[in-house]
Amino acid sequence: MTGGRKGVIGFLSSLFKTNMKNASRAGLKVIPASEHGLPSNLVPDHVLKVLNGLARHGHDAWLVGGCLRDFLLGITPKDFDVATSAHPEVVRSLFRNSRIIGRRFKLIHVLFGREIVEVATFRANQDSAGTNGNSGRSRRHARSGRILRDNVYGTIEEDALRRDFTVNALYYTATDGSLRDFCGGVQDLHNGVIRLIGDPGSRYREDPVRMLRALRFAARLDFSIEEHTAAAIHKQAALLRDIPPARLFDESLKLFLSGKGCRTIEMMREYGLLSFLFPATESVLARDSQGLQFLEKALQDTDARAAEGKPVSPAFLVAVLLWPPMRQAERKLQEQDIDSPEAYQQAAAQLFAQQCRYTAIPRRFSMAAREVWFLQKRLESDRSRQVETLLQNSCFRAAYDFLLLREAAGEKVGGAVRRWTGVLRRMQTEAEPARPGAQLADAESRPRRSRPRRRYRNRRPGGAGTS
Ligand code: ATP
Ligand code: MG
Repeated sequence: MTGGRKGVIGFLSSLFKTNMKNASRAGLKVIPASEHGLPSNLVPDHVLKVLNGLARHGHDAWLVGGCLRDFLLGITPKDFDVATSAHPEVVRSLFRNSRIIGRRFKLIHVLFGREIVEVATFRANQDSAGTNGNSGRSRRHARSGRILRDNVYGTIEEDALRRDFTVNALYYTATDGSLRDFCGGVQDLHNGVIRLIGDPGSRYREDPVRMLRALRFAARLDFSIEEHTAAAIHKQAALLRDIPPARLFDESLKLFLSGKGCRTIEMMREYGLLSFLFPATESVLARDSQGLQFLEKALQDTDARAAEGKPVSPAFLVAVLLWPPMRQAERKLQEQDIDSPEAYQQAAAQLFAQQCRYTAIPRRFSMAAREVWFLQKRLESDRSRQVETLLQNSCFRAAYDFLLLREAAGEKVGGAVRRWTGVLRRMQTEAEPARPGAQLADAESRPRRSRPRRRYRNRRPGGAGTS
């Protein structure tokens, strides 16, 4: 029935039937390799090096989190997380190719070329500062209950309980290939449920980003959100106001570029979370069906690109998400008979300034997103002497893709789509006469730039069509 559960490989079902039939939710379940059926070559060599390196020095080392969740669902994991009894400084000293990152939550990145293995020391969930050799400085809460710093170390059992969702609290050891399930994660995976560990109210207060993560995983895996986990989101959405805008921007990228952006935005609106990340967009969407149609279309396209393994640039996503309020600002200007490029620039600058209070959009992305918008007007104008100049603009391809989306969503763009599609077809025919069936959307069909004209030109703003 669901994308995620469709992917559940048979063994998850049989594992559940044989092992979990009468199991209670609480308590540890140890699932030997012979029963969980995960292949013995599950762990890539570079991750094994980390697990074995830690074990050789007498530390516990487990594969944990999203990679196991995904493996059990038959999905290829995108990264590997390791949990260990070794403290960060010890891990750092064991691997030359490592560095400690994070202050709020100290982690070690062990680097293998472009691959990163993230190693986290077992954390304790309860405020146990002082009981396990950690000083009280290691965990700090805001008055709201939000954890400002969390470096109180604990046991594997404590570590499992401080994780966010049951399906993210499974542990795998390469030593004998067994799986540990402390919180009923296998059962929830089987049933397709996202369930917060512990009391949802306080777990969201500790870290409101867990609300966004609940929606992200539910959308991505096509899971439902357990009743209490869901109800608390409705009540506590406003806690997101306390999250630093830089973190919210990072989360936004994960939310909308996960391959299920369309479903995600639907859920974000349903749960009232979009207004804490993109308030201007949310307020326009409530009244602007064309804006909504545009966003849905754009996110469907983005999802299709992700399914094909093609990247989508954050700048393009930003241009898409803020287009409905930008169009509204433009309409307002036109109502006042202002149609100058400067007024348009000012409206965009104002919108970005407001938006950055919620999600801190790095300048390189906001500049490129604005360029995509400004190019819309130039693409719509049919002064043919601009063709060469426009083709040389590094944002041209993204702007053209954007134009296609606008037209598909019912916006009036004159004959611009037909005209530019014609231009690109002609260019393609001239460039590759011998290649039958060459696609317009091929990355190679993107016009080459002779030399950069503006400071940010060399950066890769890209677009849906960027590869
Ligand atoms: P993804 O596929 O997006 O990487 P993931 O579950 O691996 O999913 P990560 O952000 O890589 O997510 O985090 C790794 C693990 O750390 C999670 O599976 C979860 O156990 C734990 N975790 C991450 N963020 C939180 C959080 N905010 N609160 C509690 N536990 C968390
Ligand atoms: Mg991960």
